[in-house]
Amino acid sequence: MSTVLVTGANRGLGLEFCRQYAADGWNVLACCRHPEKADKLAGLAHVRVLPLDVTDFAQIDRLAKELKDTPIDVLINNAGVFGDSPGQGFGQLDYAAWTRALLINTQAPVKMAEAFLPHLQRGKLKRLVSISSQMASIADNGSGGSILYRTSKAALNAAMKSLAIDLKGLGIGVFILHPGWVRTDMGGPNALIDAELSVSGMRRVIADSTLQQSGGFLKYEGSILPW
Ligand code: NDP
Repeated sequence: MSTVLVTGANRGLGLEFCRQYAADGWNVLACCRHPEKADKLAGLAHVRVLPLDVTDFAQIDRLAKELKDTPIDVLINNAGVFGDSPGQGFGQLDYAAWTRALLINTQAPVKMAEAFLPHLQRGKLKRLVSISSQMASIADNGSGGSILYRTSKAALNAAMKSLAIDLKGLGIGVFILHPGWVRTDMGGPNALIDAELSVSGMRRVIADSTLQQSGGFLKYEGSILPW
C-alpha cells in the first residue's frame, strides 16, 4: 500500500488530498496544527492525524524521527498562507508578516524535504510535491501587488528547482504545482473551481509524472507554467 504525507491537512486542498488518497486505499499521514480540532479528518479510514506546525522545525525533526521506519511515496507540502492584506502592497508593507510568509511558504517545505528525505528514499514512488501558485510566476505577473505571497512562492519555486537537480540521482522527482483558483478559505467563494476538481487533477499529474520531468512548474491539469 502507498503512503502520502500531507501538511495543512485539516481544511481546504490539504483535506481534499487526504479524502481522495484515503478513498483510493492509500495510507494517509495527515499533518495539521490542531488534530483535536480536525473534525473532518477524524472519521476517515486509512488516515492517521499527526500534530505539525510547519514553522516548528524541532517538531518536524521529532515527527520524522517518530516515523523513521515508514516509507513515504508522496510528500505534499500543502500548508501555506497568503499573508495579511493590507500589508502586501508597496508603501504599506508589513515586514513581520512577510518574514512569516517566507517561513511558512518557502523555508518550511525545504525543511520538510530535508527531514523526510530518508522516508522518501524508502518509498516506491519517490515524489516531493510543493503546492505553489501561478502568482509565483514572474513572467505571468501583470497586476503587481501581493508582494508577500508572490515572493514567498517564487522563492519556493527556486528552492524546489534546485532540489529537483540535487535529488535526481536518488530517484526522487520534485514537482511544483499550481492548484488553480480554488474555492477554499484562501481562494474565497468566487474562485473558479472546487477542491475536488483541483485535487483530482493534481493527483493525476503526480501519478503520471516521470523523473525526466522533475523540477516542472505545472498547473493542476498538467500544463506547464512560465517561471
Ligand atoms: P486554506 O487557507 O484553505 O488552508 C491553508 C492550510 O494551511 C490550513 O490547513 C492551515 O492550517 C495550513 N497552515 C497554515 N499555516 C500553517 C502552519 N504554520 N503549520 C501547519 N499548517 C499551516 O488554503 P488552501 O487550501 O486554498 O491552500 C493550500 C495551498 O494551495 C497553499 O499553499 C496555497 O498557497 C496554495 N494555493 C491555493 C490557491 C487557491 O485558490 N485556494 C491558489 C494557489 C495556491 P490552520 O487551519 O491550522 O490554519
